[in-house]
Amino acid sequence: MNTNISNRLYQESLAKIPGGVNSPVRAFKSVGGNPLFIQRGEGAWIIDVDGNRFLDCVCSWGPLIFGHAHPRIAEALRHQLALGWTFGAPTELELRLAEIITHMVPSVEKVRFVSSGTEATMSAIRLARGFTKRNKIIKFEGCYHGHADCLLAKSGSGIATLGLPDSAGVPFGTTSDTIPLPYNDVDAVRKAFEDYGEDIAGVIVEPIAGNMGCVPPMPSFLQSLRDITSHFKALLIFDEVMTGFRVAKGGAQELYHVKPDITTFGKIIGGGLPVGAYGGGAEIMDMVAPVGPVYQAGTLSGNPLAITAGLETLMIINEDPGMYSRLDEMGRHVAQEWRLAAHEAGVRVSINQIGSMFTLFFADGPVLNYAQALTSDTDIFSRFFRLMQEQEIYYPPSQYECAFLSTAMGDSEIDHLIRGGKEALRSLGKQ
Ligand SMILES: *Cc1c(COP(=O)(O)O)cnc(C)c1O
Repeated sequence: MNTNISNRLYQESLAKIPGGVNSPVRAFKSVGGNPLFIQRGEGAWIIDVDGNRFLDCVCSWGPLIFGHAHPRIAEALRHQLALGWTFGAPTELELRLAEIITHMVPSVEKVRFVSSGTEATMSAIRLARGFTKRNKIIKFEGCYHGHADCLLAKSGSGIATLGLPDSAGVPFGTTSDTIPLPYNDVDAVRKAFEDYGEDIAGVIVEPIAGNMGCVPPMPSFLQSLRDITSHFKALLIFDEVMTGFRVAKGGAQELYHVKPDITTFGKIIGGGLPVGAYGGGAEIMDMVAPVGPVYQAGTLSGNPLAITAGLETLMIINEDPGMYSRLDEMGRHVAQEWRLAAHEAGVRVSINQIGSMFTLFFADGPVLNYAQALTSDTDIFSRFFRLMQEQEIYYPPSQYECAFLSTAMGDSEIDHLIRGGKEALRSLGKQ
């Protein structure tokens, strides 16, 4: 594979941008080698600056559920572009997107738009603290909720691969009210509430974890969180930045029939442009300025271009709600074929898959929390990643990230993915 132009651009970027990238996990640091510079996307495929084509399982880390450059979203953006792209005043677009979200996610009666997932979770935490007049927050090890200071404790995603337990520049005081607990461990949650119940403002959780790789909730985990938080009058926050509109029309809360108090969104809600949002019951959301005392603002919040991409995305989803069962069938099929191939090749794997989210761990036994995710052999993963690249598949360059399917993947793309993965696993078996 010729990557001369990517390599040159990367060397030049290193001089001007820290690490040559604007988000750490793009740097391929944990798998070795240099990042590819992407020139364009076409449906399920991305093409780098050297002309190499890859089936894209990163999907911009989640937002692109329809793949790249969907014609309807492109057309809607062109239309809005001609009208102007920011006014700093309300637009009808924001109202329409708010309507469609509250319709799709019934626990959300009112919603506030921001510009990233980080902003959404940061604001949701402030809101939970303002509403309950309490300070402590429970989060789960390996769950990533963006890079707000108070949530940078035992996070997954880029932090997992860099091996940083935390971040420099985060004073102890800002995380001292954060209680990290093991994912899927209801007893630990009960114990924390027995110890600090009156001080706990809320529990924030990825209802399906995606940032330690894909880790599903155990059957009663989310319902137990609901029961315990209700009992102690703390708020339950589902961080659906990744799972919202990804696993079902109404997100993971629809899939598992558990209603949180606050939900955060990002990724798909912006259709590939920068949008985040947080929402919940009207009584809670009316604590937010200008109605209530919890301050939160944004110069480009509700940006017309970004909201247009999100609105068009959710309209397409609403026209074809059957897409989620199709994506789940595709995901099951890929996971099943890879499990068989790994078994035949004598490679030990544990594959987690929910709908169009999946992760292949090189570990014995199930992966249901961060400690188990960390048992995956990341040297084997790095080899797997490079073998997948040779098979023209762009797999996430980190063990602790979720891979995604998109609706742009037809039968031939799924065949390509299955065949490429099998070939990679066979090669691993021989090494
Ligand atoms: C991606 C992600 C975030 C952060 O969103 P950004 O837009 O990158 O700030 C927060 N929570 C979850 C669950 C995510 O997957």
